[in-house]
Amino acid sequence: MFDVAIIGAGINGASLAYKLKTSGKSVVVFEKDSIASGGSGAAGAFIAPKFAKTSELTLLLEKSYLNSLEFYEKKFNKYINLSPLVHIAKNSQESTKILQFKESTSLQICDDNNFSTFLSDKDSTRVCLKHSAVVDAIGVCNEMLKDIEVIYENVDTFSKEDDFYSINSIKAKKLVFTTGGFKNILDEPYFNYRAIFGHRIDIRCSNKLDFIHHKDVSVSCSKDDALVSVGATHDIHFDMFKEEFDYKKSREVLLQKASNSIDLKDVEVVEDFIGIRCGSNDYMPIVGRVVDYEKTIKKYPKLLNGQKVDFDQFEYMEDIYMINGVGGYGFVLAPTLADDLYLNMFENKKLNKNIDLARFVSRYAKRVKNG
Ligand SMILES: Cc1cc2nc3c(=O)[nH]c(=O)nc-3n(C[C@H](O)[C@H](O)[C@H](O)COP(=O)(O)OP(=O)(O)OC[C@H]3O[C@@H](n4cnc5c(N)ncnc54)[C@H](O)[C@@H]3O)c2cc1C
Repeated sequence: MFDVAIIGAGINGASLAYKLKTSGKSVVVFEKDSIASGGSGAAGAFIAPKFAKTSELTLLLEKSYLNSLEFYEKKFNKYINLSPLVHIAKNSQESTKILQFKESTSLQICDDNNFSTFLSDKDSTRVCLKHSAVVDAIGVCNEMLKDIEVIYENVDTFSKEDDFYSINSIKAKKLVFTTGGFKNILDEPYFNYRAIFGHRIDIRCSNKLDFIHHKDVSVSCSKDDALVSVGATHDIHFDMFKEEFDYKKSREVLLQKASNSIDLKDVEVVEDFIGIRCGSNDYMPIVGRVVDYEKTIKKYPKLLNGQKVDFDQFEYMEDIYMINGVGGYGFVLAPTLADDLYLNMFENKKLNKNIDLARFVSRYAKRVKNG
């Protein structure tokens, strides 16, 4: 009997499993493929905030960026390359955003003259963040799960018995779904995701890059293994499960985009990575207990008329939780969301309303009413 069974061994499942294990809980992880075989394995895993005007999302990302930098550096030092980050505006709209960011941020900004040697775009507005990083995505997920039991099975059903759940022969008191952009077996109508396909490449080049930079795509610093990550593309139309991917064409696009801001010399592509980012409709992550929509609407039909009901009053699937919808910021958000969900699960601490899964219930109910 485990305290918690987690379904999905991407960065969200791995971070939560690590948090649970180091907090003294027993945990088992189910993974249908291999660790970090979903979006997490494709990620460039750049640790950066969002360079935009202050909003709920930028504040969450800023807090999570600082938290995750410290977390990976302290606990998974072997898997992080620290370096400054130069963010360059790609158009006048972004230029305004960067100027607003510079004015409002409390993050440490530095002079980038030392880093700009290879920049091919020296004229656009840019900002240099003193602290940033790129994480070894697959390495860190594996290391987090090192002493944790991982069962390689596709979970397509589970049952409830008394006060525990069974998945095949495994029993656990609580379930957490961290299944990213894959089919969600909970099948509740009120949450749906946007799947955003992405391609990243690892390259070798003859110049040594001592900063991360970001314009049309991100280009990492030269990592410990001398590789440089370039990516990723964003494609909301491509379905990697149904269509064949044109690697050659996409490599050209990535390298062309990289060249808009940096001169990479003698490039050799070493490896391709593809995957899906799973974003929510309001761009905020989706965390917390899973609401039973039908029971909740039966209890509070007034939700259909747009009337407010406190999240605490909703009907929930007992002891079932999820973390998802982290979009292009999974590695930035995961350590913070794991802490938040842990406190919610075991210390009854309320989640921020803006990340709580329950926020989708009333929005969906209103849409149902309006046809
Ligand atoms: C190309 C690309 C570049 C990115 N770059 C960055 C970046 O620079 N910085 C950043 O912070 N984020 C980045 N991201 C985003 C980040 O990778 C994702 O937000 C993050 O990986 C999501 O993690 P996850 O754990 O929620 O999902 P996933 O990593 O997709 O993990 C879900 C796991 O669940 C397993 N699973 C699913 N269903 C089942 C089931 N029924 N039974 C058992 N197992 C199941 C899957 O096999 C998978 O391993 C990028 C993403 C992509 C695609």
